[in-house]
Amino acid sequence: MKYQLLKQYFGYDSFRPGQEILIDSILKGRDVLGIMPTGAGKSICYQIPALIMDGITLVISPLISLMKDQVESLNQAGIHAAYLNSSLTANQYYKALSLARNGRYPIIYVAPERLLSPEFLDFACHVKISMVAVDEAHCVSQWGQDFRPSYLKITEFVEQLPKRPVVSAFTATATAQVREDIKKILKLHNPETLTTGFDRKNLYFGVETVRDRYRAIVDYLQNHREDSGIIYCLTRKVVEDVCQKLQEEGFSVNRYHAGLSDLERKQNQEDFINDRVQVMVATNAFGMGIDKSNVRFVLHYGMPKNLESYYQEAGRAGRDGENAECVLYYSPQDVITNQMFIEHNQDNQELDFVTREQVMERDRERLQKMNFYCLTRECLRTYILNYFGEEASGTCGNCSNCLRDYETEDITEAAAAMAGCVQSCRERYGVNVILDTVRGSKTARIRQYHMEENPYYGKLSRYTIPELRQIFNDLQLQGYFHVTHDVYAIVKLTEKSRAVLDGTELVLRKVDTKAEKESEPEDGRITTRKKTTSSKRKAGAAALSGEDQALFERLRVLRMEIAKEEKIPPYIVFSDKTLISMCQLRPKNLEELMEVSGVGVVKAEKYGERFLHLLALGNGSL
Ligand code: ADP
Ligand code: ZN
Repeated sequence: MKYQLLKQYFGYDSFRPGQEILIDSILKGRDVLGIMPTGAGKSICYQIPALIMDGITLVISPLISLMKDQVESLNQAGIHAAYLNSSLTANQYYKALSLARNGRYPIIYVAPERLLSPEFLDFACHVKISMVAVDEAHCVSQWGQDFRPSYLKITEFVEQLPKRPVVSAFTATATAQVREDIKKILKLHNPETLTTGFDRKNLYFGVETVRDRYRAIVDYLQNHREDSGIIYCLTRKVVEDVCQKLQEEGFSVNRYHAGLSDLERKQNQEDFINDRVQVMVATNAFGMGIDKSNVRFVLHYGMPKNLESYYQEAGRAGRDGENAECVLYYSPQDVITNQMFIEHNQDNQELDFVTREQVMERDRERLQKMNFYCLTRECLRTYILNYFGEEASGTCGNCSNCLRDYETEDITEAAAAMAGCVQSCRERYGVNVILDTVRGSKTARIRQYHMEENPYYGKLSRYTIPELRQIFNDLQLQGYFHVTHDVYAIVKLTEKSRAVLDGTELVLRKVDTKAEKESEPEDGRITTRKKTTSSKRKAGAAALSGEDQALFERLRVLRMEIAKEEKIPPYIVFSDKTLISMCQLRPKNLEELMEVSGVGVVKAEKYGERFLHLLALGNGSL
């Protein structure tokens, strides 16, 4: 039954990892908690049981745009579904509710604010509710990034129903704290808890430290003219600048940030979703609820404040499972910008002093780990997965570090001198003092602290300060030093550094010999210029042969035509992945067309002939 539904409505032959376990549990009447990364296919986990179970499934979703998107997708697939939220007029709302009473919809999306309203409660108590599915379930947790007080109403609602339905919860947020909160707050009964790996194999990860980030982005866009993508910037001002310049250079871009009017934001978002504009330049205000599946790249013009944010934002690429790219354009200046955000965070005003300090400390720590992501020369994917508590192989072959040639350099002597200096001043100073000492600088602070008398003073005078900072960063990354997260950022020794103190442990680091190093004396940090290694692998349709690409373009035009007729976004008609498969498989009749992943019965009947016609032209048989 479930396989048949998967094929018939969604056009897929098999379930993805985890989906089946969750579906089976639900069908047995057991609560579930599904923790899966974006794009893993959470929706199907509740949609398929919803179709099998007798009664109505209510899906709680935080955003109007998300609901609309999901309901349109279901309707396109031939499934009756509706949403109930504040975007409906009173008339539409009562009409939908009365159809629902008559059993028209097996799946109803509802905003959490509605649940306890008298008319909705009355409805829910007079029909059979078989399941309450909570999408974006981390919204119940104050520890998560998107806490929504209205989510707390869900439990009260469930408790008011005459018979307790199955409760299923889904999220992409992984931390243990949030997971426990979800179970507790939603009062899940002995839930089947399933975490699928956080790895997104179809995403390429890159970090580029370049002199001119703007030019690097222009280069990137020039090489990806056909693709849809997002450029995240740290501030509204940068969004404005970058967007304007790109527009002037003739790129199809638009902007999005919290400073725009509701109307403009809505308009810009719709243009992007419907492929009328290719690239969105935005702050982190953009994205929650963006279900657009054919985002082929997410570029970061600047480093976000932590890896949670980065992975969430970057994860908006490639939801259709086709190859996509996530590139972060880094500058050491980003650390300072983010530090300022942390010091001036307005969200924590109501916290007492001690708690506020703790929050800031935690934020600084997360920022440091984010910064290390940009500095590490080890596999970026491994770094991310380890951060989220997952084991990883160490080399993925699909990130900028795995694809770059590094050489190994012996830094034993520098490590020993730095560790010795830290030890001899009894772990009381910050990085700058330590580096100035071993370098032999003659600054006022060095004199004030009498560091000229330190036995390690001038030991590493052959290096420049930026070089020393780079070495220090590498050592810290490898765990040879710890830097405290309070405002003073004091350097401490670790278990590991004690071994280098006597100079017996061999300490190595990877260096990019092709990188051209140059110092930026004004802030004493190093900038490494690397040739932008726009990855060798091609994303999405670019991987097709020339002839197939031309066909893909024609299919895309047809998809756009249909999207306009149906007034839905193109990716709801068919995903990029489905169009690409069509180019590769070249189906000749409806039967063969339904073999293509993503083509269900209803869509085949509705649009099949038009696509087959184009495919036949492509086959040269007409
Ligand atoms: P999530 O909510 O986890 O971010 P979605 O439910 O939006 O992910 O699914 C992401 C994409 O994967 C959608 O295009 C969906 O149709 C597709 N998908 C889901 N399950 C399967 C499957 N079993 N086989 C192929 N594609 C699938
Ligand atoms: Zn890698």
